[in-house]
Amino acid sequence: MSSENNPFDAMLEEFSGAAKLLNLDPGMWKVLTHPKRQVIVSCPVVMDNGQVEVFTGYRVQYNITLGPAKGGIRYHPDVNINEVKALAAWMTWKCAVAGIPFGGGKGGIICDPTRMSPRELEALTRRYIGEIADLIGPDKDVPAPDVNTNSQTMAWIMDTYSMHVGVTTTGVVTGKPVEMGGSLGRREATGRGVMIVTRESAKHLGFDIKGATVAVQGFGNVGSVSADLLAKIGATIVAVADWKGGVQNSKGLDVPALITWTEQHKTVAGFPGGDALDPAKIFEQPVDILIPAALENQVTAQNHHLIKARLIVEGANGPTTPEAHQALYKRGVFVVPDILANGGGVTTSYFEWVQDRHGYFWEEHEVNERLERKMVEAFDNVLATAKKFNIDMRTAAYVVAINKVATVTRLRGMYA
Ligand code: NAD
Repeated sequence: MSSENNPFDAMLEEFSGAAKLLNLDPGMWKVLTHPKRQVIVSCPVVMDNGQVEVFTGYRVQYNITLGPAKGGIRYHPDVNINEVKALAAWMTWKCAVAGIPFGGGKGGIICDPTRMSPRELEALTRRYIGEIADLIGPDKDVPAPDVNTNSQTMAWIMDTYSMHVGVTTTGVVTGKPVEMGGSLGRREATGRGVMIVTRESAKHLGFDIKGATVAVQGFGNVGSVSADLLAKIGATIVAVADWKGGVQNSKGLDVPALITWTEQHKTVAGFPGGDALDPAKIFEQPVDILIPAALENQVTAQNHHLIKARLIVEGANGPTTPEAHQALYKRGVFVVPDILANGGGVTTSYFEWVQDRHGYFWEEHEVNERLERKMVEAFDNVLATAKKFNIDMRTAAYVVAINKVATVTRLRGMYA
């Protein structure tokens, strides 16, 4: 499997570029490229037809040097250990870049949630959490939503864990419903962070975000909020694509109307405020800014040369393969890497955890103001590192993250 399709190999490739620059010693290199703990569990579930199915679940705690493991839980037929390991590693670096006291983790269950009833999904979630209950907790490992899991899933996790330990423990997960300890502003946080780093990048590159043109791949949580907030600060969203179709309008799409359309039709396809666009052509659009906000491995050796944008902001995790990234950097395209660009989500998850532990909840403007400060600080830190070493922003983000985790590992020492 090449790094084009093994995300853990892609992570290792990204890691090694930065580790070489830091002259990381071989021992530390080994420590930081091995997950601390990988757990595989079998989860029997009585299905609605009375038959028992056994689902395989994973939880990887990649590194907990800076604090409890933090990372989502994904339900998907393609979940595999390499993917979960890579996502857990990326969470480690993302939390370090964001400047929050968390390590990195990730979980997943091999299942097809589109073919399961809500009762089956609840039973699967509760059994999976039962299997890993000893490993998670507000001080140990704090899951969150990821692909095909949502605030309802988090509510079931909170309840299952609380029943196991005998105490209502809101801080065991983030991304919960606001009524039960979720944070205001969490739903929009990843897209808000994408908007903030896009605005800061435009400033750095010397072009005005007002009137800048934007194409967005993916119009779910991250893509739609990014598009909406970028439009609110004056950018023109000219093309959007999702798994089913695309839409373009060179004068600018009406983003709130497109969001309403998507809520009703489950796709942007057919939106009357623009012309149909082949979703495969989203990356070729003549725009200033491209925001991949769908899946991994979208910008690849096959399509990077078609990209015309001068700024790419990675809303999704791992959307650009290492080979494509190298080529884009050589061409002078400014790429804001996932571990910086989409860190607004985990930063606000940290705010949620803090609020749960204090039992005191902030107003939405306080959440947004704190997020603004954290994102600008993280962006400035990575940009200063990129300038210092004369490197791309991805390698710079890894330099910041690895340096931080390695420094704390050295201070803590090697327990034996
Ligand atoms: P989502 O499920 O809400 O939306 C995903 C969108 O991508 C949908 O519009 C879907 O139609 C589209 N899509 C799927 N396959 C596609 C394809 N082949 N071509 C074009 N579009 C396609 O998911 P989300 O929460 O918005 O997450 C998107 C990405 O951002 C993922 O990589 C996720 O890991 C990452 N991310 C999410 C958060 C968060 O807080 N939600 C935080 C950090 C990173």
